[in-house]
Amino acid sequence: EEELKRFEETHPRSKALFERAKANFIDGVPMNWMVKWAGSFPIFVESGEGAHFTDVDGHRYIDFCLGDTGSMTGHAPKGAVPAIKDRIDRGVTFMLPTEDAIWVGEELNRRFGLPYWQVAISATDANRFALRLARHITKRQYVLVFNYCYHGTVDEAFATAQEGHTICREGNIGPQVDPAQTTKVVEFNDIEALEKALAPGDVAAVLAEPVMTNIGIIHPEPGFLDALRELTRQTGTLLIYDETHTMSAGPGGYTGAYGLTPDMLTVGKAIGGGIPTAVYGFSEAVAERIRGTIDVEGADVGGIGGTLAGNALSMAAMRATLENVLTQEAYERNIALAERFSEGVESVIQERGLPWIVKRLGCRTEYWFRESPPKNGGEAAAAVDYELDRYMHLYALNHGILMTPFHNMALISSQTTVEDIDYHTKVFRDSVDALLGT
Ligand code: PLP
Repeated sequence: EEELKRFEETHPRSKALFERAKANFIDGVPMNWMVKWAGSFPIFVESGEGAHFTDVDGHRYIDFCLGDTGSMTGHAPKGAVPAIKDRIDRGVTFMLPTEDAIWVGEELNRRFGLPYWQVAISATDANRFALRLARHITKRQYVLVFNYCYHGTVDEAFATAQEGHTICREGNIGPQVDPAQTTKVVEFNDIEALEKALAPGDVAAVLAEPVMTNIGIIHPEPGFLDALRELTRQTGTLLIYDETHTMSAGPGGYTGAYGLTPDMLTVGKAIGGGIPTAVYGFSEAVAERIRGTIDVEGADVGGIGGTLAGNALSMAAMRATLENVLTQEAYERNIALAERFSEGVESVIQERGLPWIVKRLGCRTEYWFRESPPKNGGEAAAAVDYELDRYMHLYALNHGILMTPFHNMALISSQTTVEDIDYHTKVFRDSVDALLGT
């Protein structure tokens, strides 16, 4: 209550803008998630630079949320902005390709090990198109996802499993079709359940993050991803890895870092430095099957694609981001800083004897209010403590730190500094002490 009062008193301009915005936007925000923050209204942003941003009330924040991965590059990344500005000056949408596409295609192949690519506007789009292609070439009905996954606003992925039945996930404006007709859901790390679900040979594709991130970071247990690859191959099911968040693991995501071999792969958000764009790639074998079923010479290849997808701006943004910002050297630096972040939080947890843990995936790190890492989405969902989450988030916000609101996640960008990280450790310690009343 005290933190909430403090938040309200110190953000009068954001509050006033929020009140005005309510007249024309549902919940007073142009995109509904923007309201899901710990305060009683969203902070309106003025500008951002690197790992920091300023709000309309003049507060400066260290940004560890970074657009929930969309700005993993840091805001207005210096390595990408000149190329993006130059492209804007020369026109952005032609429905014709630009030369940047060549560089981008070659680089994606090098990073992720898949030869063929298409561009979409968002990760949601990329996943929808990948699933559509998978169903088209396999002629199969089902998609399999892991319980409590998130792959964007994709109808098929809004499902959960309850007593062996597939039902719609609570809290979503979901599809009006019975998800049991489209989707099978099993728990992550459950090889036996996966085997059983794939056995009938009616699943077109498994859509998965190689490490779950959206219910918190859940690593695959040793052998799980090998089993997933083996079982999908045996049953003629396509394996699609969504690297949108796991891109934090390295320049080629978890796939590049661990030599995985999916049939298809999708990645959005950070890939274009925060400009709306995403890509989906596929293997030679998948490309061959697509060629065999779609008349690509014909004029009417519909069902995938988008008017602004792959436009000159998105290609320039992707090229500049990959070439100058999300480089091997940047990852090495950022991952080392993320380790420092984790160690800082861990030291407080130990000093204060808290039953909490820290998890990390490359330059993405987060803390959990539980004693041991959950094994799957069901276990993780049962352990979420919304009230504590909200308190920690709000305390950080009131002390100039923005964490990702849905869980206590921090991303490290190329411009996050050692001072930013050490300041977080201090604020984290203070928030714990305030909580414990010490
Ligand atoms: N895939 C994953 C793994 C995500 O976490 C998200 C969003 O959080 C998406 C896809 C969808 O991204 P977008 O909302 O940009 O379409």
